Amino acid sequence: MSDKAYKGVLVGSRTDIGRLRDHNEDSLLAKAPVYVVADGMGGHAAGEVASELAVKAFEEANIEGADENALKRAVAEANAAIYKGALEGAGRAGMGTTLTALVIEEDRGLIAQVGDSRAYVMQDGTLRQATRDHSLMEELVAAGHITEEEALVHPNRSVITRALGLDRFVMPDTYEIRLHVGDRILLCSDGLSTMLDDESIESILQDNPDPQAAADALVEAANIAGGFDNITVIVLNINQIDSRSADKQKRHLIRNTVSFALAFVLLITLAVGGVYVYARNSAFLIEENGYVALYSGIPGEVLGVELKWLEKTTNIYVSALSDTAAHELKTGIQTGSLDKAEQMIREYERQK
Ligand code: MN
Repeated sequence: MSDKAYKGVLVGSRTDIGRLRDHNEDSLLAKAPVYVVADGMGGHAAGEVASELAVKAFEEANIEGADENALKRAVAEANAAIYKGALEGAGRAGMGTTLTALVIEEDRGLIAQVGDSRAYVMQDGTLRQATRDHSLMEELVAAGHITEEEALVHPNRSVITRALGLDRFVMPDTYEIRLHVGDRILLCSDGLSTMLDDESIESILQDNPDPQAAADALVEAANIAGGFDNITVIVLNINQIDSRSADKQKRHLIRNTVSFALAFVLLITLAVGGVYVYARNSAFLIEENGYVALYSGIPGEVLGVELKWLEKTTNIYVSALSDTAAHELKTGIQTGSLDKAEQMIREYERQK
């Protein structure tokens, strides 16, 4: 299959019978935005029926974007097609397939995983496995019974613990990956990953920037290493993130910034307004040039702003009042309301 550009994603793919098998039971689909590797099993040509049914179900599902429900529905349909196929005589009872399916939308990738085919992501030249195998080896390694190196040569290395088509229902694992320009994604069957370790796969990808050249080189290397099984690879180069995504993110950012600024302005307005209303409803008495003066507002400053308005000066001489009152009037006596202030002034007049 030749390179195909779609929304900034370049694709290379290849499936190969390998060097020991007489059938290729793997199937692949590379039809943007859906990419599938399926590794069938069941013997007597049934495996390829199973993997083809899985791929066909994904083709017919017409998934348009990274929608987890649509992806899971396609997995369920693929499973049902194989399960029913076996009951109705297409292929054989007990046939099944692995499935690693990826859908891409803008900068999101969603993966559905059943069995031991794999998805890898290479970012900044470093390869990491993005999926976890449903395999006996994975369980033995996870439980600490064997090492990853031992798993590579273990006689039961192709025993899987989950497959499509064996049961009425199947539960895929799903993974979400964030895509960046320059990222590369590899989907492969175990015919690649049991022949080559991750370091070899990484260096072959590094040596082959073109996705089709990388797919060809990976298959060739797996065959050179023995080609014990069918080998299937899909290599994707993320050359450009769909600009709709960037626009959407930019709009989102602007919207958030504007909302934040509005909320901030509103908060400040409320705070200033609150202080202003409070000041407008307050009053205080204070000494001014030796006499008692009445102000509305609050004495001193709030954030460098004076919030006081002279209501009147009186002819009450402060030194004629009690020492306590005279002392308090130096900094101002807050009275709460103008009425209360007037009341105090009348009291002072009686005292003088
Ligand atoms: Mn296989």
